Amino acid sequence: MSTPDVVVIGAGQAGLAVSHELSAAVVEHVVVERGRVGETWRGRWDTFCLVTPNWTVRLPGGAYAGDDPDGFMPRDAIVAHLESYARSFTAPVRERVSVISLRPTGDGFTLRTSEGEMRAKTVVVTTGAYQKPHRPAGAASLPRGLYVIDAEGYRNPAGLPPGKVLVVGSGQTGCQISEELHEAGRDVFLACGRAPWITRRLGGRDFVSWLCETPFFDLALADLPSPQARLTANPQATGHGGGHDLHYRALQRLGVNLLGHFTGADSTRFHFADDLAESVAFGDARYADVGSLIRKTFESRGVAAPELPPPDTFRAAAPGSIDIAGFGTVIFTSGFRPDYRSWIHADGAFDDLGFPVTQDGRSVVVPGLYFCGVHFLRTRKSSLLMGVGEDAAIVARSIAGQTAA
Ligand SMILES: Cc1cc2nc3c(=O)[nH]c(=O)nc-3n(C[C@H](O)[C@H](O)[C@H](O)COP(=O)(O)OP(=O)(O)OC[C@H]3O[C@@H](n4cnc5c(N)ncnc54)[C@H](O)[C@@H]3O)c2cc1C
Repeated sequence: MSTPDVVVIGAGQAGLAVSHELSAAVVEHVVVERGRVGETWRGRWDTFCLVTPNWTVRLPGGAYAGDDPDGFMPRDAIVAHLESYARSFTAPVRERVSVISLRPTGDGFTLRTSEGEMRAKTVVVTTGAYQKPHRPAGAASLPRGLYVIDAEGYRNPAGLPPGKVLVVGSGQTGCQISEELHEAGRDVFLACGRAPWITRRLGGRDFVSWLCETPFFDLALADLPSPQARLTANPQATGHGGGHDLHYRALQRLGVNLLGHFTGADSTRFHFADDLAESVAFGDARYADVGSLIRKTFESRGVAAPELPPPDTFRAAAPGSIDIAGFGTVIFTSGFRPDYRSWIHADGAFDDLGFPVTQDGRSVVVPGLYFCGVHFLRTRKSSLLMGVGEDAAIVARSIAGQTAA
């Protein structure tokens, strides 16, 4: 396949933002995408919508311009936005080309793809902020006969077999799917982990707009308590129905059954750790952290900020095991892990967790290899619609400098 010197892998928001910035810098390139533009968003469940308000869609040359900036775009509107973004600058996307392996060779790279081999001097990997679904170890012990899926396999309540549903993982996805299934009349059990939570609105404003005025989204990996903290879930909340609170207490009020961490199963029972109170306390501590960050930020400007309301009471008693009888489905919503090492053959390019080791998106190990869209690539907002453009511009500038040299 004839190829320009620069290849971008993946046509989600990160790949398109990089392509936009490379086009602006007149750097010839191609974007290869295994599915269609916005493929990952297309694969999300039917009622999926943004958790961050529409005004946070700040792609370079592709900011949200609709009439509902405070709303939360549903899945198909997000895909339509990305498609129209790609068209707006005639992004050189080759759809339905999967990169099977990437190898540094000589003064560039060899890419083995579903359409044959490609050579490139520079490669930008934009294959997703959230890559490989992660299941806890206990998942392997589930007995046969249950319908077991990851969040990517979930479309809508009608697509599940009849019966009770166990959702494992209480990040945004697990909370939203639990709410939807509960509203559809299912008996839902949610195995909870450690996730932050936040109230959707504070003093009449959305929490994202408050946080944007603090350093929250600009924090870098080095600001976190440990590298592992990069895997912590985003704050529990939802954009559904115009946006509302959706945390442990809200789910408990609805009637969703909350449990500790899922530890496994035998032929008749699901088992859970005795740690629901600890998980809720972890979330409450993060809630207090955010409250104090907002307070301190505004105090330093001499402006009063509203206090976050104290958390309601919570009933933390939960059974250590429950009978499997009556359950039809288990849905794992227990987060993601990076998946670069399985196909990028570059020794030392990734850290212990599998994240690329980069400086401003440039691999510190492999010359010519770049990444964009990675969670905490530069800051917390690197993987978000509001932040990926900033990183894409930096990556494109670096590539333009190299190719001009
Ligand atoms: C459930 C959920 C909700 C989210 N909600 C929000 C939100 O409200 N607001 C927000 O700002 N962010 C949100 N995000 C975070 C982030 O915006 C999305 O994850 C977004 O999809 C990341 O964009 P991306 O371009 O980095 O990756 P992706 O959208 O995953 O794009 C990567 C592309 O690469 C392609 N690809 C992968 N591997 C290959 C290969 N080997 N060869 C060729 N192509 C390949 C894929 O098909 C895909 O199209 C959410 C994330 C999740 C998981």
